[in-house]
Amino acid sequence: MSLSQKACSILASPTVALNEEARLLHEKGEPVIHLGIGEPKNKTPIAAILGSAAKLNSGDVKYEPTDGTPSLKKAVIRYTEENYDRVVRPQNVIISDGAKQSLWNVLFAILNPQDEVIVLAPYWVSYPEMIRMVGGIPIIITPEDGSLVPTFEEIERAISSNTKGIIVNNPNNPSGAVYPEELIARIVELCENKGIYMLCDDIYHKLVFDGNVAVPAYRYTNKDLENSKIIAINGVAKLYGMTGFRIGWVVAPRKLVEILTNIQSQTTTCVSPVMQAAAEGALTGIQSNVEALRLSMQNNRDILMQELRSFNDVRCFKPQGTFYAMPDFRAYCGNGMVKNSVELAKFLIKKALVVTVPGKEFGMEGYLRLSYSGNANEITEGLDRMKWALDPLAPPEIYIGDRKIVRDWI
Ligand code: PMP
Repeated sequence: MSLSQKACSILASPTVALNEEARLLHEKGEPVIHLGIGEPKNKTPIAAILGSAAKLNSGDVKYEPTDGTPSLKKAVIRYTEENYDRVVRPQNVIISDGAKQSLWNVLFAILNPQDEVIVLAPYWVSYPEMIRMVGGIPIIITPEDGSLVPTFEEIERAISSNTKGIIVNNPNNPSGAVYPEELIARIVELCENKGIYMLCDDIYHKLVFDGNVAVPAYRYTNKDLENSKIIAINGVAKLYGMTGFRIGWVVAPRKLVEILTNIQSQTTTCVSPVMQAAAEGALTGIQSNVEALRLSMQNNRDILMQELRSFNDVRCFKPQGTFYAMPDFRAYCGNGMVKNSVELAKFLIKKALVVTVPGKEFGMEGYLRLSYSGNANEITEGLDRMKWALDPLAPPEIYIGDRKIVRDWI
């Protein structure tokens, strides 16, 4: 079959693939525990349901402006003012089919072939592939000190005359780290001085724990929006647990939004007005569900950290936000049982029916990403099973309900 070389070189999203694997196991009746997925289990906020239901009931569901319905854009403008302390205009906002599409469109809009984009490891799996897809080159910065947050000097050293952008996901998927305020301030200064775009992926920005704050990059620039290099990307998927609604947005200088609108007009025409009405409902309705979600994620984080303590030789940075943790499982890799994090994750699915994501996918070999977006029981049970599967001295079989699981080494 004759296919595009570029398209064929793009890898499938490993997290999406793992979701599918978990779904199939679940469908077969297997008692699978999914610590791979980044998806809160909450019900959709009622205001979002009512908003989309009203739109459907109107029977008037047609094409809408490419850059978003005026009323959702108004809600995003208000959100930006309240959360970023920035007054922006409708021309600075475009709504897309999820933050994923927002990010892809931005990368497509700013990159010429061979332009470089700095990606901070550990990084969200899609960044490098998206950059490659649009002809750019991802430059991965891995913290040299073995921590999960690169230093400013490491970032600065990676800048070249081809650097077009840097992606900052704060708090960070997969590590759960909130980047220090000083680091954000210095990256903003660097980007504004050198004319490098700072793509702020703020999709988890309110899911922060223990009084940590993910400071918005805008706070550290004295440039007005039209002259700033900061691009803010956000959406309703994580904060409102509305992953299936597929609504994300970009706040950026007007000229860039114009280009993004042209791109979207040729690829998407417009985002579904039903979903936009839902997002508008979420943004304008009562916000207590965001706080409730934040608190339950913080509680889940504590349960996970407690469970991880009983593993031998596993260290884990205590997440300050998101619903992910990135424990260091290097002690279990390359010891004859499994060679690396990919094999370890496979082993855990096969032998303990627990889905995790190999650290390799996030640029951190030897680590696993564990999601604690599910419920407390799943976290406890999942970690117990992992402990059992990885302990050579544990009994060779356990029962999950009336289902016997036998562990043998791969
Ligand atoms: N950025 C990050 C860091 C994410 O983790 C995700 C979703 N996993 C997205 C963007 C995409 O969000 P959406 O579902 O709105 O496309």
